[in-house]
Amino acid sequence: MSTKRNQDEDTKPVKKHASYWAMGLLLSMKDPELFIKEDDAVVVIKDKYPKAQYHFLVLPKENITSLVKVTKEHLQLLKHMNKVGQDIAESYPNSVFKLGYHAQPSMSRLHLHVISDDFNSTCLKTKKHWNTFTTDFFLPSSKVISEVEMQGKITPVTNDKIKKLMDTPLKCHKCSFLAKNMPTLKSHILVHLKKFI
Ligand code: AMP
Ligand code: ZN
Repeated sequence: MSTKRNQDEDTKPVKKHASYWAMGLLLSMKDPELFIKEDDAVVVIKDKYPKAQYHFLVLPKENITSLVKVTKEHLQLLKHMNKVGQDIAESYPNSVFKLGYHAQPSMSRLHLHVISDDFNSTCLKTKKHWNTFTTDFFLPSSKVISEVEMQGKITPVTNDKIKKLMDTPLKCHKCSFLAKNMPTLKSHILVHLKKFI
């Protein structure tokens, strides 16, 4: 019996093909399996490796590679991406959503994460995954918009700060629980899942 697995986020290439991997969102914008909706300015897709029950990405059609390329000229676009994200979130009234950007994204093409705050997903496996959504590594969309409004750009987060954020101890995002490892944290967060009858 073959033990070969489909390539997933865990088996992503480390060096040689890393830049090709980083372009994956561009292909996914055209993938009917992931496509949710589009308008003149943006495309919404499902995240291929969702880190919560609901996890979407809002991407501009304009080729903006990342947040560091954003200027005041993109303010209307950022606001529109936020509105599209909010509309998606509102269509799941039983979940609370976070809308934001990763301070140091791994994938090319600017993308707004629209993610439900249960973080209950088999794809969320590592401390890095956890800390990218639950620490200041996650830049709320509203803050990004205000920063671009005030400064005309986003000040990049330093590598030192990124390292500190990634080293943040595993802490529950809803209470003061400190977990000694990911399996403990993943079973703990289930206590916060809302039960709807
Ligand atoms: P970031 O760290 O902000 O660049 O996040 C990239 C997101 O894209 C992650 O949440 C991944 O799960 C997701 N992802 C990675 N590859 C793909 C792909 N080919 N199609 C759709 N989503 C992807
Ligand atoms: Zn908790």
